[in-house]
Amino acid sequence: MIIDIKSTGYQNDVSRVKLYTEGKKLKAHVMTFGCQQNEADSERARGILLDMGYELSDNYRECDIILVNTCAIREHAEMKALSMLGNFRAVKKNNPDLIVGVFGCMAAEPTVMEKIKKDFHYVSFTFEPNMLHMLPSLVLAALEKSKRTFVIGEDKGDIVEGSPVYRVGDFKAWVSIMYGCNNFCSYCIVPYVRGRERSRRSEDVLSECKELISNGVKEITLLGQNVNSYRSDISFAELLERIALIDGDFTVRFMTSHPKDVSEKLILVMKKYSGKIAPYFHLPLQSGSDSILKKMNRSYDRERFISVAKKLKTEIPGLALSTDVIIGFPGETEEDFEDTMNVLREIRFDMVYSFLYSKREGTKAASMTDFVEDSAKNDRMKKLLAEQDIISYEMNQPYVGNVCRVLVESVSKRGGGDTYTARTGSNKLVHFKSDKNSIGNFINVKIEKAGAFDLFATEINNI
Ligand code: SF4
Repeated sequence: MIIDIKSTGYQNDVSRVKLYTEGKKLKAHVMTFGCQQNEADSERARGILLDMGYELSDNYRECDIILVNTCAIREHAEMKALSMLGNFRAVKKNNPDLIVGVFGCMAAEPTVMEKIKKDFHYVSFTFEPNMLHMLPSLVLAALEKSKRTFVIGEDKGDIVEGSPVYRVGDFKAWVSIMYGCNNFCSYCIVPYVRGRERSRRSEDVLSECKELISNGVKEITLLGQNVNSYRSDISFAELLERIALIDGDFTVRFMTSHPKDVSEKLILVMKKYSGKIAPYFHLPLQSGSDSILKKMNRSYDRERFISVAKKLKTEIPGLALSTDVIIGFPGETEEDFEDTMNVLREIRFDMVYSFLYSKREGTKAASMTDFVEDSAKNDRMKKLLAEQDIISYEMNQPYVGNVCRVLVESVSKRGGGDTYTARTGSNKLVHFKSDKNSIGNFINVKIEKAGAFDLFATEINNI
């Protein structure tokens, strides 16, 4: 069900919180672990905090409220978030009125929630990722010094529209179009902590995009755990087409896609609107071995993946393709790993994000017993990185000598103050020197040199 935030009691709770915050200059900090979806949720949390009368601060030590948006994808991410929570003990000692709240994927795990309840007595509340509209009521309960609140199991799969958003940047924006996942890949915790798939109404997505573009946003990234399985009154391909038809000088990207949901129509739309839709596709392979793909419950085989990847590359001009690979999934043999390497050699991805498999409690794969030795995993990783570096380097060479339209993003970390970092539509990082700060604008550059991970350019006469 789609619910308007105004019908949730949100406004009433905000007004009551304001009675505490008004005129006090209370400060708030939101700390984010994990993916872009979490970054987008944190922007909404910041919008709600501002709505309640808090000022935002980058320094959590001086704050009256700290919110931690957590990630559950790997146990390592959980350890990091819990260790950060430990740091707040001292802050609470200095400021007994400090409110600490935890949300995001970890907060949807009953065992973690129990641990926080027991070991972190200064955490006032936790809530699941889809319950951000409850934030004012939770803050209110903490301000009124009533009981600690742990919201879990309350997510009914609704989408709450109309929440305020405070966006960190002014020329790039994330727009969530769907939440949750139905795929239950055997290594992944997401369907358990973010629930089943549900899509926003196309009219809500379109009006958000129109507003962003009219406010000068140059790049919109559509987000979803499984973005191309978006289904509302229209399909993902149709939604993308309608966004591409909005007037204005902007690019639209999307992530993350599932190979099983790449439709003919999506490829046609990307080809037709190549000026507006970035020629970049992240298509997670995970493994090139059919038996491992089956154990992963990925619902495609190697042949289907290769045919989708090749079709994307041949149909969409200038497309860059990237992928994810998990190394050392339970039962992965040397032959299985070679199957993966053969797919990388055949497809020649522009970029491969590779991860060593690590056991994630709560997933089906955690009960598998045929674990791969760390030494074998590390050897395979080394081999993959060495070969892929060469492929990425070779994939970047055709850019040399070309003029590319890029969006300037920031001052480059690789040069002095006059070196900037930009991004091509195909998602390549470009460094160039300029005496003019064009951050937030599209400009043309000539690529002079290409490495495996970056392109180096000179600015050309931009009119
Ligand atoms: S598609 Fe698979 S890996 Fe991606 S979020 Fe869903 S379950 Fe996790």
